[in-house]
Amino acid sequence: MARPICATIHTDALRHNLGQMRQRAPNSRVMAMVKADGYGHGLERVARALAGADAFGVADLSEVERLRAIGMSQPVLLLPGINEPVDIARLRALNADAVIHHASQLEMLEQADAGEPIRCWLKLDTGMHRLGFAPDEVHQAHARLSASPNVAPGIVLMNHFASSDALDREGSSGEQTRAQLRVFAEATAGLDGARSLANSAAVLGWPAAHADWIRPGGALYGMSLVDGTVGADFGLRAAMTLSTRLIAVKRVCKGERIGYSATWECPEDMPVGVAAAGYGDGYPRAAPAGTPVLVCGQSSQVIGRVSMDLMTVDLRGIEGAQVGAPVTLWGPELPVERVALAAGTIGYELTCALTRRVRLVER
Ligand SMILES: *Cc1c(COP(=O)(O)O)cnc(C)c1O
Repeated sequence: MARPICATIHTDALRHNLGQMRQRAPNSRVMAMVKADGYGHGLERVARALAGADAFGVADLSEVERLRAIGMSQPVLLLPGINEPVDIARLRALNADAVIHHASQLEMLEQADAGEPIRCWLKLDTGMHRLGFAPDEVHQAHARLSASPNVAPGIVLMNHFASSDALDREGSSGEQTRAQLRVFAEATAGLDGARSLANSAAVLGWPAAHADWIRPGGALYGMSLVDGTVGADFGLRAAMTLSTRLIAVKRVCKGERIGYSATWECPEDMPVGVAAAGYGDGYPRAAPAGTPVLVCGQSSQVIGRVSMDLMTVDLRGIEGAQVGAPVTLWGPELPVERVALAAGTIGYELTCALTRRVRLVER
């Protein structure tokens, strides 16, 4: 028997969420972030569902190739940009856009053989201190790009937020985002070109950051990073259900301990279920006892340690929990954000972490 674990991708939810992004930022174009295999949802499937997006954003040239191979003709932005000179020829062959975030990339562009000009997104470091030019380097970098025949006209100016998940609400700690907005505006004053600042949380919570291009990722998959919220709080729909089945049901006596290292002790004689899912599938081993799961649609919890192929769940008070009963690990009825919170991570990491042995199906 094939392992019953399966990730169902809800393409209608992807389309719905894209519509939500457009409604929230009606004057912006949408770059759908589909890096990391569409946040684990399957790049081709996601791109087809989101074919109405104005552009795609990816983190690897192989993902540009895959998008072109299925006929996606929109701009595709390679987020890390040019890593080595040969990437320039690849970008040209794939008609892809490049982020330019570092002087070494400017040099590679300037020294490249003449050829088809590349559309460039000039990235500023406005305070996150990951990628980007410092504010006082931006005008010079822009001038050098503009002067290079290898760069297409219409350089886009972009920024990335560190803390936009703190919403622009009274009492929230939005200072870093306010500061980044200010630095961006000052550093780009007088420069022509479209602007792109907003990730999902900024689309949801920082209308002042919408600008010409929004770049949502997580929100398209129905996930929220805003503390204490789930995607549904913003009208988003979960795009993935991770489900499996019980493959054993047993009664365990009071005082007996369950699983590796005997971390969980039965407080009473009780029914216990064994579900076919574990960290070998990408379910987090860090998920402690108490992490929510649904058995036959009813609220239950992980008990004992998650192992590679299996996990144990509490069947007290659950009706219909026989061998073969459905177990939902996350999905529209059990937000991945809640599972992630219990496991000390974010929903993005969980959907990205699914391993190859998990079947992805579409519905
Ligand atoms: C991943 C990424 C995004 C999308 O972030 P979300 O939180 O998923 O919306 C936007 N911009 C850049 C540069 C990114 O790397």
